[in-house]
Amino acid sequence: MNTTAGGIDLHTHSTASDGALTPTELVHAASDNGVETLALTDHDTTGGLAEAKGAAAAHGIRLVPGVEISVTWQRRTLHIVGLAFDSDSSGLNTGLARLQLQRRTRAETIAAKLEKTGVADALEKAERLANGGQITRAHFARLLIDAGLCRTMAQCFKRYLKPGKPAYASVEWAGLTEAIGWIHDAGGLAVLAHPLGYGMSAAWRDRMHAAFSQTGGDAVEVCCGASSPERLQTSVHAALKYGLLGSAGTDFHSPAQRWLRLGRLPRMPETVTPIWTHARFAAG
Ligand code: AMP
Ligand code: MN
Ligand code: MN
Ligand code: MN
Repeated sequence: MNTTAGGIDLHTHSTASDGALTPTELVHAASDNGVETLALTDHDTTGGLAEAKGAAAAHGIRLVPGVEISVTWQRRTLHIVGLAFDSDSSGLNTGLARLQLQRRTRAETIAAKLEKTGVADALEKAERLANGGQITRAHFARLLIDAGLCRTMAQCFKRYLKPGKPAYASVEWAGLTEAIGWIHDAGGLAVLAHPLGYGMSAAWRDRMHAAFSQTGGDAVEVCCGASSPERLQTSVHAALKYGLLGSAGTDFHSPAQRWLRLGRLPRMPETVTPIWTHARFAAG
């Protein structure tokens, strides 16, 4: 496999969580964009993988099993992407089942809070939008837009769904050690997702990379869908400092995200070892 991120996208979403495309549609779109190796990484679920695998086989694309696990670390939420694992692993599936229950309970809490601010039938609406997939805050954002209460997703989070806002419900997600353990027990690799996406200061980011590496994490997302050369260098520096491999993923959710396209990623800098050269990944 090559050392550039060309034809590779290791962070994407489908209707199994908050993506707009079904796993089949996602694979079609990836294929149209020249993606040869695709990981589907839905929030706390592997529910879309079987369908994606079938569609990928039909397109001659390599589908890497993936998941994006919600983690609570130092009272902050982090996202740890698991890649190239055995999706039959009971440890991983038991862990994800717990997070899915927590998502359900949180959805009920968010809906109750929204009702208090005057939004009717929020749970039913979110369920309808999720259509059997995991309910996320993105679904609540969509119903707020549909109700004419906000114009953009960003506005929904800023006004209603972020910590400190009226419809925020805090959750103690998986522990960092726990999530990495589930991924490793299933034979996979653990990736720290979008390290610049948590609104952290440089000092906190450094602590996060250190903790992730010390806990046995394997890689950090160096190449992201919306990265500038400066942002990329920040993550290159962290990968080298903490001996982490580099991963590459757009975090694609929907064709409506006009600023990113499936598989369109910067090249992995030569100083960083790409995750896709790892033996476990190559075998996965
Ligand atoms: P959850 O995991 O249910 O808390 O939902 C988090 C998801 O909401 C993320 O994966 C994003 O897809 C989406 N999200 C979070 N913040 C924003 C934002 N400011 N604008 C748009 N989408 C967001
Ligand atoms: Mn999402
Ligand atoms: Mn994420
Ligand atoms: Mn994601």
